[in-house]
Amino acid sequence: MKQQATGSQPRVLAIANQKGGVGKTTTAVNLAGELARRGRRVLLIDIDPQGNATTSLGIAKAALTVTTYDLLLGGAPPETIPLASGRERLDIIPADQELAGAAVELVTLERREWRLRDGIAPLLHRYDWIVIDCPPSLGLLTLNALCAAQSVLIPLQCEYLALEGLAQLKTTLERVREHLNPLLRILGVVMTMYDGRTNLAQQVVDEVQRYFPQLICRTLIPRSVRLSEAPSHGRMAYEYDPHGRGAQAYALLTDELIGREERV
Ligand code: ADP
Ligand code: MG
Repeated sequence: MKQQATGSQPRVLAIANQKGGVGKTTTAVNLAGELARRGRRVLLIDIDPQGNATTSLGIAKAALTVTTYDLLLGGAPPETIPLASGRERLDIIPADQELAGAAVELVTLERREWRLRDGIAPLLHRYDWIVIDCPPSLGLLTLNALCAAQSVLIPLQCEYLALEGLAQLKTTLERVREHLNPLLRILGVVMTMYDGRTNLAQQVVDEVQRYFPQLICRTLIPRSVRLSEAPSHGRMAYEYDPHGRGAQAYALLTDELIGREERV
């Protein structure tokens, strides 16, 4: 079943949008889980001080000894930082509130945009995919993710003004490409919380389709109560409600993104 990933370097994918509540974490967690189910060795990196990806996998923050903070600030050897998630082939580098401090401490450090890239270098051979869940800002933490990644996936909520802020995000991505990471590319734009019963949702999808005909993912992630309940149980969608529309949509999205990323 396992399609061999090309080359020995993993795909490093940042899930980014400076807006909060658009589905970044839900997408990062479920994509990571589905990739692991498809035989890929996956590392999920939580680089948001809110630590929602960490909690979503059922990991108690109080018990954490090493986190993304240590990866960025050199607080522990990188090889010792990933935690087993309790799912086959899925590890996580968790985050907690301490990471908010890193955003400040990094400012005066050398290679401040490259700390994540440097930190994961010794881990690359262990994984086929590395998925990074970004915070809702374009600050130094997100910048570290964009410098460590080869590609970005942008979740957009199917809401009025979904495209607002996207210009700023694109400018940031262009600046990163120009000055820091020329190989960075946008893998796709994924529409989340799609409600097919409303005209608005379809209008938003149509509009994004016009702006990004190449980038918009075919798979729409439906608005689903089950998707929003799963994290409070520490479960991914396929664990919580395997036949639900949300879980199925993330399975399809994963196939679509594997097709885009592992092609060639
Ligand atoms: P972000 O990481 O961009 O802030 P989240 O993934 O945390 O966004 O999603 C924000 C909130 O919306 C969370 O409570 C989450 O459970 C919920 N949510 C995310 N995707 C969906 C969806 N497709 N349907 C319903 N609720 C969703
Ligand atoms: Mg989040």
